[in-house]
Amino acid sequence: MRLETIAVHAGAEVDASTGAIAPPIHLSTTFEHGPASESIHGYSYIREKNPTQSRLEDAMAQLEAGEAALVFASGMGAGATVLQSLAPGSHVIFPDDMYVDFRNLSRDFLPKWGIESSNVDMGSAEAVGNALRPNTKLVWVETPSNPLMKIADIAAIAQIAHAAGAQVLVDNTFATPVLQRPLTLGADMVLHSTTKYCGGHSDVQGGCLVLRQREPLYPGLSQTRRVLGAVASPFGSWLVLRGLRSLPCRMERHSANAMLVAQELSKSSKADAVYYPGLANHPGHEIAARQMSAFGGMLSFLVRGGYDDAVRVASRVKLFTNATSLGGTESLLEHRASSEGAGSKTPANLLRVSVGLEHPDDLVEDLLQALG
Ligand SMILES: *Cc1c(COP(=O)(O)O)cnc(C)c1O
Repeated sequence: MRLETIAVHAGAEVDASTGAIAPPIHLSTTFEHGPASESIHGYSYIREKNPTQSRLEDAMAQLEAGEAALVFASGMGAGATVLQSLAPGSHVIFPDDMYVDFRNLSRDFLPKWGIESSNVDMGSAEAVGNALRPNTKLVWVETPSNPLMKIADIAAIAQIAHAAGAQVLVDNTFATPVLQRPLTLGADMVLHSTTKYCGGHSDVQGGCLVLRQREPLYPGLSQTRRVLGAVASPFGSWLVLRGLRSLPCRMERHSANAMLVAQELSKSSKADAVYYPGLANHPGHEIAARQMSAFGGMLSFLVRGGYDDAVRVASRVKLFTNATSLGGTESLLEHRASSEGAGSKTPANLLRVSVGLEHPDDLVEDLLQALG
């Protein structure tokens, strides 16, 4: 089946007991079992799994072409569960540009867990190969990356990592399975912050892992999630599931709008650089065109000048709202270095944009008037 059809139908089975078309939200924390705790209905306790969550996992696994999925309370919960499943003494390779709290996690928590890490510019797959160590267990890819929109070649990195016995995780939050399916390119795991495009309406927090093969990772990850507790709630699962139904339509419009905004920004003398993989002058454009079906709704740009100039532009937008996060129907903009806080490596004149579903001309007009 094609992706648009999967998005509408996966996990959408008619409720057997009522015929309801919209899926029920099962809030029960506990489920009947036998006198010696024998499973009767397949569920026992909410932190282990619940029926609304199972529908979402089924849908995410199908969308990403994986054998199994696990959903979490947040994207961070999903990522932390992977890292907490590694044995002490392991080494992880991260990108040099990535979601800020994963950078904070690798700096502040991994050393306490006895896990080594390094950061590499993944624009070159060879650089990943050079960073491999005998104890490298995981290569963590984020493409496009947050906030510099760097592109990594998933297939090339997977080949190099697998030859060295390391697994590959791709944070696919920006692209979504609509635009990029890392498991079909050789990655072992996909991570989503479903808080973003999958939910799609800025009203739910969640995370997800999808595995190319159920074994050998699923039992360990599922146990880590159950014991450490970062599991998705039934209502959160239901909202993300509802978001998935329109994901292909939304990504098409997000991508078309962002392409126009990127092209128009590129013409402005007030923007020094525009980072959008859909632009032919983006260093990762060729790879992105090969592994993505469109380029998504995220972009960033450098305002000519410095910190003050960028903040001035951010203070002048009228239609865009200054806010963090991304992937909702409304367009957002943020001065990313201030949002990332101490230790941020993001340029002081960079603004990050989540292009929404408004008419693109209104978005372009607002940005151009803000640039002045
Ligand atoms: C937001 C985000 C995360 C973290 O997800 P939460 O749901 O906020 O915990 C991870 N990766 C990327 C690329 C993100 O944008």
